[in-house]
Amino acid sequence: MSRQAAEVSEPSREAEFDVDLFVIGGGSGGIRAASVAAGHGARVMLAEEYRLGGTCVIRGCVPKKLFVYASRFSGAFEEAAGFGWRLSVPHFDWPSLIAAKDREITRLEGFYGTGQQSAGVEVVRSRAVLEDATSVRLLKNGRRVRARTILIATGARPELPRFDGIELGITSDAVFDLKTFPRKLVIGGAGYIAMEFAGLFAALGSDVTVVCRGSNVLRGFDEDVRQAVAGSYTNRGIKLMFSDSIRRLERRNGDVRDGEHAGRINVTTEQGGRLMADQVLLAIGRTPNTTALGLDRAGVKTGADGAIIVDASSRTNIPSIYAVGDVSNQFNLTPVAIREGHAFADSLFGKKAWQVDYSNVPTAVFSSPEIGSVGLTELEARAQYPAVDVYKARFRPLKAAVTGDCETALLKVVVDCATDRILGVHIVAEEASEMIQVLAIAIRSGATMKDFASVMAVHPTVGEEIVAMR
Ligand code: FAD
Ligand code: NDP
Repeated sequence: MSRQAAEVSEPSREAEFDVDLFVIGGGSGGIRAASVAAGHGARVMLAEEYRLGGTCVIRGCVPKKLFVYASRFSGAFEEAAGFGWRLSVPHFDWPSLIAAKDREITRLEGFYGTGQQSAGVEVVRSRAVLEDATSVRLLKNGRRVRARTILIATGARPELPRFDGIELGITSDAVFDLKTFPRKLVIGGAGYIAMEFAGLFAALGSDVTVVCRGSNVLRGFDEDVRQAVAGSYTNRGIKLMFSDSIRRLERRNGDVRDGEHAGRINVTTEQGGRLMADQVLLAIGRTPNTTALGLDRAGVKTGADGAIIVDASSRTNIPSIYAVGDVSNQFNLTPVAIREGHAFADSLFGKKAWQVDYSNVPTAVFSSPEIGSVGLTELEARAQYPAVDVYKARFRPLKAAVTGDCETALLKVVVDCATDRILGVHIVAEEASEMIQVLAIAIRSGATMKDFASVMAVHPTVGEEIVAMR
């Protein structure tokens, strides 16, 4: 193309685009990117094939936390007796919880719809797939939309193992809508989802067994944390089967009604274990939603795990196509997806380029007790630093002394000896998620153990132990 031809073709090329940005997926990352880009003046269209809000709002963080709240009342009722309360036997009604959860999810979905509308984003309720590097096809009506930039924010879906009878199991997608409460629950996997649902269902009254293929739960977390949670679950009557996994599911005197497995399920494990269950929850990780998305037509590269490969600015190998959130399988957490979406939109449409800093991402597991974690585990720190100090406090919180609960809290701080800088904090305690959020600010700001020790305690609290460590 001659120089002159290139010059005249630029403005007309711009006019060829229906939108400046097309976002595929209305979850945490997509919604934030769309509204921020629209706020910067971009013409934005967003396609969502299911419900606005994505995994977090519809079948992840939010409904899960509501279930967690529900589950904590059982412990509170028991503890109340220790503090002089005389209660008649409380009765838990599962359908009422589901209905309350549904109301809140519908409210939030509406809130996100209104938010997108007022930001000026055109939301299309349809599956969208890539046609090429600058166009998308809406499968609902076949319309082709040409976009200067495309953002893929399609998230992830539950991974499924392969074994006979897999259709009898459910994943976290279905667990939020069970019509009947599972009295006997078997869970395959021992990561975030498995441990959260094991804890909450046990507290709601289920008989729970976790089948864990490794030698302990929650691989990747600090060893003391893993021990503490496994010990606590065992004390609470949750059965943990280690070095084993589910081999087969068979229906027992059951039929399938309304999508529910009315009959009981026989579970056979690789080690020959035999269990019975009302429901079998399979929680063995999540797979990026890249199947049949047209990535090959656009030439977008994926890794071995199916995730879209992106650089530090969320750009794929195709300059007009970006990807944020779980679909790029980096830190599969809502705040990370949101921040990636925000950085992408500011950088491309707001003329203020910035990148997400993935160091010291705090995380919480809403298990019972909760885990809060930020920075390096002790093992990671020892592998990366020549000398590491470890401070630990294990204690029975004041409340437990009165209720008779034997549960202990764990606070652990990992420190670089050379600089006294705190490399990691790991907590197993009530409200550990709240504590770690605030501690993460200190860790990110480069706090040292001396800084912690210089801070006055708030008494009596669980958190005060962190400034009392010597
Ligand atoms: P999603 O939120 O999954 O959004 C993707 C959207 O794209 C979906 O709405 C999907 O329907 C849509 N879509 C997919 N393909 C197409 C297509 N071709 N066309 C149109 N639309 C499409 N994280 C936390 O930080 N804290 C928690 O407590 C927490 N709890 C969780 C509990 C559970 C049970 C699960 C499963 C996850 C949890 N997570 C939690 C993880 C969190 O939900 C995800 O990291 C986050 O939702 C990822 O956001 P995203 O925008 O990448 O994808
Ligand atoms: P995780 O990766 O956390 O855990 C997967 C578990 O399944 C591990 O115990 C793993 O064992 C096991 N596993 C993997 N493959 C198999 C297999 N073939 N057979 C048997 N067991 C297997 O995934 P989750 O599904 O629990 O959650 C997905 C992601 O969602 C999380 O990683 C997290 O990013 C996000 N999430 C965040 C939450 C939060 O922030 N509170 C809550 C829920 C989800 P092994 O360790 O041996 O690999």
